[in-house]
Amino acid sequence: MAKPPLLRCFVDGQWVTTKQRFPNINPVDGQVVSHVCEADAQTVSRAVAAARAAGQGPWKTLTANQRAAILHRIADGIEQRFEEFVAAEVLDTGRPVHQARTLDVPRGIANFRTFADLVSTAGSEMYDSTAPDGARVISYVNRKPVGTVGIICPWNLPLLLLTWKVAPALAMGNCVVVKPSEETPSSATLLADVIRMAGLPHGVFNLVHGFGPESAGEYLSTSPDIDALTFTGESRTGTTIMKAAAEGIKKVSFELGGKNAAVVFADADFEAAVAGVMRSSFTNSGQVCLCSERVYVERSIYARFLAELKKRCDALVLSYPQDPDVDMGPLISHAHRDKVLSYYQLAQEEGATVISGGGVPEFGDDRDQGAYVQPTIFAGLPDSARCVREEIFGPVCHVAPFDTEDEVIARVNDSAYGLAACIWSTKLSRAHQVAARLNTGIVWVNTWFTRDLRTPFGGTGLSGLGREGGRYSLDFYSELSTVCIKL
Ligand code: NAD
Repeated sequence: MAKPPLLRCFVDGQWVTTKQRFPNINPVDGQVVSHVCEADAQTVSRAVAAARAAGQGPWKTLTANQRAAILHRIADGIEQRFEEFVAAEVLDTGRPVHQARTLDVPRGIANFRTFADLVSTAGSEMYDSTAPDGARVISYVNRKPVGTVGIICPWNLPLLLLTWKVAPALAMGNCVVVKPSEETPSSATLLADVIRMAGLPHGVFNLVHGFGPESAGEYLSTSPDIDALTFTGESRTGTTIMKAAAEGIKKVSFELGGKNAAVVFADADFEAAVAGVMRSSFTNSGQVCLCSERVYVERSIYARFLAELKKRCDALVLSYPQDPDVDMGPLISHAHRDKVLSYYQLAQEEGATVISGGGVPEFGDDRDQGAYVQPTIFAGLPDSARCVREEIFGPVCHVAPFDTEDEVIARVNDSAYGLAACIWSTKLSRAHQVAARLNTGIVWVNTWFTRDLRTPFGGTGLSGLGREGGRYSLDFYSELSTVCIKL
């Protein structure tokens, strides 16, 4: 068998090998697929210093159109190595190949193209809006990059989420130090190689691998030389990073956890709603911050809906990523599986009825060494149960009946999180009215996960701080400076 490759950090335009290494494990069968160079404090400092220096170099003199052209070259580079990116995502996460082909890698490309187009076509309101005040003064606004941006990412949609921040940061002329999750180092390393070939000046993009506490994540978030921090991950980690950012009053943007609800009204298109809830609960093995872990169904269709959901959940195919029939891969790691299984156990201790799943599948082959869990449906818990209130981040949902619109709105909003919600209804005016009363950053009506990348994205409460997407990203990655001239 070939020796697993070594994945290195990328600092100031060079590949960097470090002494400390950690294994990257394939969650399908528990095999080591690569070894990864962990950035120590010195390597992170060098990366930050390289980014600061690059911000004063030729990168600073490029026009928005020139930066946009580089972003398009990066997108071209991903396109040319499309299958390598698919393989990298699949190897790290065990997700179905068809998902990586249709979602993860295309969205990585789209992120670069979208922000390239946005900065190159942005009108005067993005650059130098003027505010004349009679004949006395004229003011205008310069929009400048924030400077050096630290980007810390999770493992659940590695390329998609990382490029979602790297692309707008570069589009606005910033320099970045990126730390991908320790669980998913491969596609970020491949991206560094694409960026190296795309002609970005040295130091503008830097990549440091490692863990959170006492490793690259902590070194990056506590660096005094970072101007802004953008983070996607758990709400608890967000709290730690926010404390670090308070020192030096750094600008922050947080995309955090969720405990999202789907609401199915009796007037919904039944087939579309069942299919939609299956997707929103079990896509990517439930490891999407936007997944529905709470499903509320109007009582008159509750029994029929639950029976149909059970039938489809029981039939989901757990398999190898390359299997054309695969519906669900493993979880990201055994440690994460332990966490999800502890909630499966807790749900039963809290009095849940297991409608489907609830345990670990048995395959009789090397997948038994992987991190698979059964897709699971619970019912019968009160809204106060921990399993209905806390994010599990696995292929699991709790289904409960409701009687009135007011009641279900109150129950959906009774959460510390506020990321996303889905409404399934054929009554347009009802959908608008309910959407307006839900306290989440996004509400989908008769769909899930559909996104126009120009619209704002983010959450309320424990789900995050700030909005990214379209010009909201450009706002976060820039500083406005007003010039006032006496006439
Ligand atoms: P995590 O918080 O454990 O880790 C995320 C990143 O932070 C990793 O790179 C990790 O190494 C780093 N990190 C951990 N501790 C740190 C510390 N003390 N200082 C600095 N860096 C640290 O999250 P995860 O398990 O990788 O991802 C899953 C979570 O992400 C879920 O809660 C999910 O809901 C959330 N998420 C949110 C969104 C969104 O857009 N709102 C999108 C995807 C995932």
